[in-house]
Order: sequence, then structure tokens, then C-alpha cells
Amino acid sequence: MKKFSLFLILFISGHLLVAQNEVEKGLEAITKESLKGQLEFLASDWTEGRAVGTKGAYIAADYIASMFQTYGIQPFGDEAYTRPSRSERMAGARPEMYRTYYQSFGLIEYEPGDEQVFSVVTSKPGSESSMDFVYRTDFYVQTGTVGQKVQAPLVFAGYGYSDESKTYDDLKKIDVDGKIVVILQGYPGHGDTTSAGYEKYKPEGRYAAYYLERNKIQGLQDAGALAVIRISPDANPMKGWAQNDIYRDNGGFNESDKRPNPYYGNRMSLPGKELGGNLSTFTVSERVANEILSGSGINIEKFEEEVAKSLQPASQELAGKSAAFKTSVNSKVVNARNVVGYIEGENKDEFIVVGGHYDHLGKWDGVIYNGADDNASGTVGVMEIAKAFMATGKKPEKSVVFAAWTGEEKGLFGSTYFVREAKEKNENVVLNLNYDMIARNPENDSLGNQAHMVYTEANTVIGETTKKNIEDYDINLDLELRPSERPGGGSDHAPFAQEDIPIFYFMAAMHPDYHQPSDELSKINWEKMQNIIKVGFLNTWKFANSDDWKKTTVKPEAEVETE
Ligand SMILES: [Zn+2]
Repeated sequence: MKKFSLFLILFISGHLLVAQNEVEKGLEAITKESLKGQLEFLASDWTEGRAVGTKGAYIAADYIASMFQTYGIQPFGDEAYTRPSRSERMAGARPEMYRTYYQSFGLIEYEPGDEQVFSVVTSKPGSESSMDFVYRTDFYVQTGTVGQKVQAPLVFAGYGYSDESKTYDDLKKIDVDGKIVVILQGYPGHGDTTSAGYEKYKPEGRYAAYYLERNKIQGLQDAGALAVIRISPDANPMKGWAQNDIYRDNGGFNESDKRPNPYYGNRMSLPGKELGGNLSTFTVSERVANEILSGSGINIEKFEEEVAKSLQPASQELAGKSAAFKTSVNSKVVNARNVVGYIEGENKDEFIVVGGHYDHLGKWDGVIYNGADDNASGTVGVMEIAKAFMATGKKPEKSVVFAAWTGEEKGLFGSTYFVREAKEKNENVVLNLNYDMIARNPENDSLGNQAHMVYTEANTVIGETTKKNIEDYDINLDLELRPSERPGGGSDHAPFAQEDIPIFYFMAAMHPDYHQPSDELSKINWEKMQNIIKVGFLNTWKFANSDDWKKTTVKPEAEVETE
């Protein structure tokens, strides 16, 4: 059946016959051998986990640039100038501008300093007393990007939670502006699966709990809070702080006599005009929580029980209580590099960007995180599509940029920087393909061919074209299509989607080796990876040579008005 339809296409039109041959040439360039050749190097120990700003990442970037050059892809990175020697200058040579494969930018790396100060101050008529607590005994702090010195009143904001429709809003009756806000982890009813709150507010999705807490902190920052103190009655926050554990569990894989270095303990930010993300978040021990709440009449257990049932916020000022703290931050600037090349199209001012991040977690406590799937696999996908485009022997209609992003693992910095620069230079980016983790099997994938593709819902043609390509070319891929109104989440398509640029994003599977040293070459499903790259190529080829996918579904007017 599938072969028959392909035969028909070939038979009907001579024009299509030519197009078919170009595509076939492109497809033939995507071989398992070239996948292996590239992935084996990128995920080898020599690139030391490719953490942004490290030597391993530089080696990986140079390798990717070399492959672009080998395939005939033009450089699309920063401008640079030749440096004629003295004798050349004497002979009349002048510096000449050329483009490199690297788009370089600075990132500010920062981590909490060793000294952090936190006190709870109690004021009564005629007196003021202060309890000075101890870092890593009574509290832990996720600092902002620079150190802070603050004394401000404390306010209890329940969970610091508001649901989307604002029928429940912990911030409604209190003012958090200029205050230090005390919140509980979770949401109304989170601890009681039979409660009304749990039923109503239970977040869905794999990272729901993480996003919930992150959004809460963001909401408090937007409302003017100076800092957040988190109380987690379910967890003992002192666990894990102890200095004298003999067998420390380092990410579940390694026993060590050294304090594990938490990956996210050190963070990065893109330098900007404003000082962004500077809210300090404290996690405190039970005795600190008790000192903060003493005299307020708040009993956390009772509070949780009642709110879970009533769904009524019970936030309140903490009269006479304030906190004073001083955080310290160590900081330095690292140089990060995207690798970008391109094929100039007939209509050279419209760009499709094919990208995937090449950075990974690096090396921690002597253990290398190879990141074979995350995301050496997607990087190879980008290089292979570049190779396939060149193999067609035809100049595409639109220009196609091939990009290996850096700094993804630290916060999507490479793609964010690229999108920001493209906007500044008025480059017309019309579509983005993102590859992130395209070579593993999810659980229960007995045929080893499952994967999914997220795409911008309004551009229905992206989904249709994908389906058709899989069928027409008889590609062994059980690809679940996930249209999304505005695709977000933790990968490099997000900065594009944020600018309303349509995207499509392939991922094979989440797996237990995710962000572990065991994300290694030996576990790669080569055939699946090859097939995902083929579909990515077929789609990109189609989109680079037609404007079909630009058609969007238009909402009926009535619906637009009510929004
Ligand atoms: Zn990734």
C-alpha cells in the first residue's frame, strides 16, 4: 500500500520525479555509520561531559564546526577579521572580515558563598531580640545572582499559591511587597489525596511539582517580595546537610567520602540590562519555622487540614516578627559558544533554524556525564540534516541555519541568545526544529520505535506533513504527535515559541539514565535515532521549499472577542 502510493507519485509527474531524487539523495546521506562516527566522538570521555565554558565543550564545539565545514555548510557565527602579518601589511594587505562558526557570549556563573547569615527578629514593646541561625544547620539558601542584605517584616502566605482562575489566591488578603514571605511547600490539600483541595489543585505532568514551586516563587517575586522562606513539614530539611556521613549518596550512583557537589548549586545567567532573578529562597529547619511562627497562633498541621477542606486562604501578617539576612555570592564570567552554520536559500532572508544543544552536565567529583542521548544524539541529528541538505545538490528556497546550542542545561542560554540576537538584527526566523534526546526507548517500547513530536498547534500542516512523510517513506517510527498552543518546557524550542515562531520538537524518551553518568553510547537505539533524523530532514526539506506550513488555523471571530 505504502509502496504503491510512492510509485504513483513517481509515475504521475516528471517534476515530482526530480524532487524525489533530490530527497532520496538526502535520505541516503543519513547512514548509521555516520551517526555512530559522530556520536562516538561527541559522547566520548575526551569531551568530559561538554559542560558550558569547559575545555570539553570547546573540543566538542570545534568538532561540530569541523563537521559543518566538511559537509560544505557556511559559517553563520560572529564576524572576525584576518590579521595580516607585518610583511603582508607592507605589501598592502588589509584586515578582512569573515564569519566564524562560533557565536560567542558571556554567561555569569554564580553560586552561594561560604558565609550566609540569617536571623529571626522578635519585637515587643520596649524590646527587640534576635536569633542568629547557622548556615547548613538551620537553613539553606538558594541565593539570587548577587549578594543581598535585608531586614524586613515577615508575612505568612500559606502556600504562596494561586490557581489559574484566582478563585483561590493566597496573596489576595495580604501585602507581600517589600516583605520576606513565609510559605509552605505544595498546595491546598497536597498531603491528603481524599481532600477537596487535592482533587481540585493536583498538578498534572511529570515535572508538575517542580514547576509549581518555581511558579510560586516567580509569583512572589512579581508581587514585590524581598525573599522567600520555605517550610516543608513533610521533609526534614536538615537531611543531607550533615558533614560526617560516611557513605554519601551522590546522585544515586556513587559512594564518596567527599561532600557531593550539587550540579544546580552553581547557576548561570545571561548578562542583561536588569538584574534578573535576584530573589533569595531559604529552606529552614523545624526549629527556625517554630521561632518564626511563635506567637502567631498558626499551627501548620491544623492549617493544612483546614485549608484542604475549606479551600479558603488563611494568610496573615506575623506581627512583631521580621527576618534579617545577608547572603554572599561567588561569581565569575565564562565564555560560551554556540556553533552555527547555514545554507543560503534562493530567498535568503527567510531562515529555518535546525538546532539541538551539544552541552551537557560535565564532570562531577571525577565522574564524567557523557550525555550520549542528552544531547549528543540531537547534535548529531543537526549535523546529519546539514549533511543531507548538501547531499540533495539543490539550493533550498529558504535559508537553513544549523545550530548546536550551548548552555541548555544551565537554562537554555545558547538558543535564548541566538533568538535575542536574531531579533536585534531583524533576521526573519520563520520556523525552528529542535532535537533533544532522540535515541532511547521509553518503558514498554517493545518494538523500540516510539518517540514523540511536540509542535505549534496552529500550524496544523507540521503535524500532517510529519505523518505523511512517515507513511510515504515507510519509516519505522511510532511517533506520537503532541500539538501545543504555545510549546514551552525545558528545551531549546522554547525561546523560539516565546517569540511566536512555529516550532517542532522531537524527543524519543525520558529514561532512568537521564542526567546520570549512565547516559552512555552503549544504550543508544541507532535505528530509531536514524529514523527520527530522517523525518526531521524530510520535514525541513519540505518546509524549506514551500510555504504550506505557514497556514494557521484561525479562530472564529466570536472566540477571539471573548478572550
Ligand atoms: Zn537535553
